[in-house]
Amino acid sequence: MTARIGGAVTAETADVLVIGAGVAGLACARELSARGFHVVVAEARPTIGGRVRTLRTGLAGPVELGAQVVHPARCDAFDELLREARLTTAPMEPAAGFVVVSGGAHHDAAALAARVRPLPWAAEDGLYASRPLSGTVDRALSGLAPPARALARSWMEQVVGQDPALLGLAETAASYHGRGRGGERVVVDGFDRLAYALAGGLEIRTGSPAERLRWGPGGVEAATASAVIRARAAVVTPPPQVAAGNLVFDPPLPRSRIDAAGILASCDAVAVVLVTAGPAARSRSFLLADPPGGLWTRLAGSRLTTGHVKGPSAKLARRPGWENDLIRAFGPDLEGVDDVLVMDWGRDPWARGAYSVPVTGAAAASAAWAEPLGDTVFFAGEASAAPELRGLVQGALASGRRAAAEVALSLSGGRDTRDRPGGDGDTRDRCGAERPRDGHDPHDQRTGRDA
Ligand SMILES: Cc1cc2nc3c(=O)[nH]c(=O)nc-3n(C[C@H](O)[C@H](O)[C@H](O)COP(=O)(O)OP(=O)(O)OC[C@H]3O[C@@H](n4cnc5c(N)ncnc54)[C@H](O)[C@@H]3O)c2cc1C
Repeated sequence: MTARIGGAVTAETADVLVIGAGVAGLACARELSARGFHVVVAEARPTIGGRVRTLRTGLAGPVELGAQVVHPARCDAFDELLREARLTTAPMEPAAGFVVVSGGAHHDAAALAARVRPLPWAAEDGLYASRPLSGTVDRALSGLAPPARALARSWMEQVVGQDPALLGLAETAASYHGRGRGGERVVVDGFDRLAYALAGGLEIRTGSPAERLRWGPGGVEAATASAVIRARAAVVTPPPQVAAGNLVFDPPLPRSRIDAAGILASCDAVAVVLVTAGPAARSRSFLLADPPGGLWTRLAGSRLTTGHVKGPSAKLARRPGWENDLIRAFGPDLEGVDDVLVMDWGRDPWARGAYSVPVTGAAAASAAWAEPLGDTVFFAGEASAAPELRGLVQGALASGRRAAAEVALSLSGGRDTRDRPGGDGDTRDRCGAERPRDGHDPHDQRTGRDA
């Protein structure tokens, strides 16, 4: 295997090669380094953080183009990291009003309640109380009157990130019970600070996409554009579709794993920042039921309006002239757009979307994807996390720590690695999120709204 830059090939060795410097890869590398292993991280992009990406415009506070909020999912390791890194979180600024834009008209929640019942968020709550938890979300919404159903579909597409016809009701309920509603927080200085906190002291090669991964019982050999890296084990953290599509495994990935990667495909998403000539008079959030769709926020005093358009609607945010649709949908709320910034996650080759979604079969696919290949290739990343954390930053962190524990156990011949230099004597997954090994999702059996 050769890799060249100007004819030169560099060779490196490490105990463990981690592919990807998103939260999962960084958490994994950090944990393994703390246990005394020599770890090298290969990252395709010029920067770390992956799907955590914070924009600083100078016009307002940090703008999150990727992960936006810390969901109230239980993850002790995540909370501990925030404390260690002295990062503060604050409740998501409650927008003074929530507006649904539908049929060209703006409705605040009270006005909407007079026309549509149940309101979309109440329809969502009703879904998880329905029995049995089987079939798709779309089917479960089919009993609603047409206007309520249309809005509930639009809401579910934007909140969860996929067409409700593809969302499994049991899987969506499991994910909802993990994160709940309300209590979301933002990282005040920006989510990217978390990635930088994890990365401290690690050997990270940015701008180094792993192109080929040869693996076998003796170890792994990875080729990037500039180096060959040999290691005793590798941890693969890119989103499954990216790993299965861009990285050549030698020998190839088994068919079952490629199928799992397809099921775990991330939802399409486009993040948009509109820079307006003047500041917003008041804070408001918008669900645009009309094209291009999406959930949007304007904060009082800020010139920025930010939105994430997810699921099939993301395509509408790529059509020629979509900005005009947007400006029309907002109406007088949005006078004088000076600039439009777009981060197209669906077309980003290293992400291919935002996050894995609870489609039918996701629990089993996630468990299959998380299984190591032999004793040398391990898998982490949000898509491999337990159902209640899948798709979240907390899930990425938990999966990286879980993969680190698997690698440590394997490289130590099955012995506990707690005595290694730097080991912290604690091999538990402190996210309280042990993933099911058999694809069985314990939350599928839950009843009621008490979870
Ligand atoms: C628009 C959007 C909104 C979101 N909202 C939230 C939210 O509000 N709350 C929340 O908790 N989560 C949210 N998420 C999800 C969250 O960002 C992810 O779950 C998490 O960041 C995933 O981390 P990861 O390490 O698993 O994957 P990634 O961050 O994707 O890391 C994988 C890394 O691998 C790299 N890579 C890919 N291929 C290669 C290769 N061949 N060689 C080397 N490197 C490679 C990538 O560049 C990337 O850096 C959102 C995501 C998006 C995009």
